[in-house]
Amino acid sequence: MNRSVHSRIRSWLGIALLIAMLSALATGCGMFGEETDEQKPSPEASVIEKYSGPMSKVLPFVYTAKKELSLTFNGMSDDVTMDKLLDELDKYGITATFFLPGMRVAEEPDIAKKIIARGHEIENNTLNRLDMSKLDYGQVDKEIRLSNEIIERETGIVPRYVRTRSGDYTDDIRLAAAHNEMEAVVVYSLFLHNWQAESDQEKELYIRKYITRGGIISIDVEENSSLIEDIAFAAKAAEEVGYSFIPLGQLIADGGERKPLEQIEGYDAVRVNPDYENAKYNLIYNVVTDEKKIALTFDDWGTDYTVTKILDTLARFNIKATFFLRAKGTEGNPNLARAMIEEGHDVANHTYTHPVITTLTPEQLQKDVVKAHQVITEAIQQKPTMLFRPPTGEIDDKSAKIVSAIGFPNIALYDVTTFDWDASNSAKDIVNKVMEKTDKGSIILLHMLDDIHTVEALPTVIERLQKSGFTFVKMADLIGLQQ
Ligand SMILES: [Zn+2]
Repeated sequence: MNRSVHSRIRSWLGIALLIAMLSALATGCGMFGEETDEQKPSPEASVIEKYSGPMSKVLPFVYTAKKELSLTFNGMSDDVTMDKLLDELDKYGITATFFLPGMRVAEEPDIAKKIIARGHEIENNTLNRLDMSKLDYGQVDKEIRLSNEIIERETGIVPRYVRTRSGDYTDDIRLAAAHNEMEAVVVYSLFLHNWQAESDQEKELYIRKYITRGGIISIDVEENSSLIEDIAFAAKAAEEVGYSFIPLGQLIADGGERKPLEQIEGYDAVRVNPDYENAKYNLIYNVVTDEKKIALTFDDWGTDYTVTKILDTLARFNIKATFFLRAKGTEGNPNLARAMIEEGHDVANHTYTHPVITTLTPEQLQKDVVKAHQVITEAIQQKPTMLFRPPTGEIDDKSAKIVSAIGFPNIALYDVTTFDWDASNSAKDIVNKVMEKTDKGSIILLHMLDDIHTVEALPTVIERLQKSGFTFVKMADLIGLQQ
């Protein structure tokens, strides 16, 4: 018999078995069990009871500071499209994770087997990709369980993760996933839908933002009409920043559980304190020293594309720096902040919303800085360096007291500024400004914003300062901060 006839018969067998399973479920009896009339459950009793154990965890991304992320696919397209997709992944050496709907695996098990044979993972995309929010618990459980059963029967793989068609989830889905002994409900850090009218450059910039450590990129193979092209964009963006796509199971195995905020020592070291009138503070611009020691500091926030390049440059020269984080950015990508710590740098507070602090009420200012402290602490999983830097450098006596009273007596300013935040200043301008202004004990302000020239200027800045005899220390060490 030829291959297509064979696979058609296989798929009919699959569907026949599925119908048998579904009808067994509908009548509430075991598939192979004999039941007497007395044992026959009443219609109410046939309703599956909600799982009473803990809900399954939900993964929108994985906690890791490693330079890796996952490319995942939802759904199963036709054989030809799936072949093209697999070839494209091979072209870039990407191993991916495919969330397959059980019904499609029953129809075309050979596609599922091919995905595995080519080195990828398969997981559960539910049986029929229905809108699970409209189903009752029993139906949700069935959609997950039958899909697991079919995938295991056809491929021998027991799915560990489930994702719905949209990626949305409810408590019932989390309970049913746990009920079916699955490890997690997987969401995504980016669901790449069809493009509108973006240029290639706009597409590149968009995808670049989502190439994050521990990221989970999702593409629906049935909905996305530029599937092949999108893989090329993602591959290029990851390569530019030196990140690898690895299967989700491995990403999760490489990742860790994070402590909740309240379990991290020092999480409450910064607290709202209305009694600020007599607070003492130090405004630190530089230190007086005979040694040619200086501190490099980077403010704000950026994408991995920018920040990882800064980290890589610092690592190449074996230099430690101090990062003042704009915490609202950190909140969306905590792994990048954790990477700074793992590479030996210091991380400190630069507010949550980046306001000009002299324009806020005492209460607004304290709340913003406390929130930043909590977000940063949770992201880096330890107490940050206890330095505060005001956005734009703007500070007065009153705002300094307000900040000091909550736990930041040391206000980190700077004596070398290069206006690098302004993209109209070239790398050469930045280098020249640094060389002109830096002296013994200087604190140099640079930025980790996207689309400015700091990344480009940094290697030259470091080389020239080293040639002039300067050594780099973290700001806390330069000023002798007692932590
Ligand atoms: Zn700033």
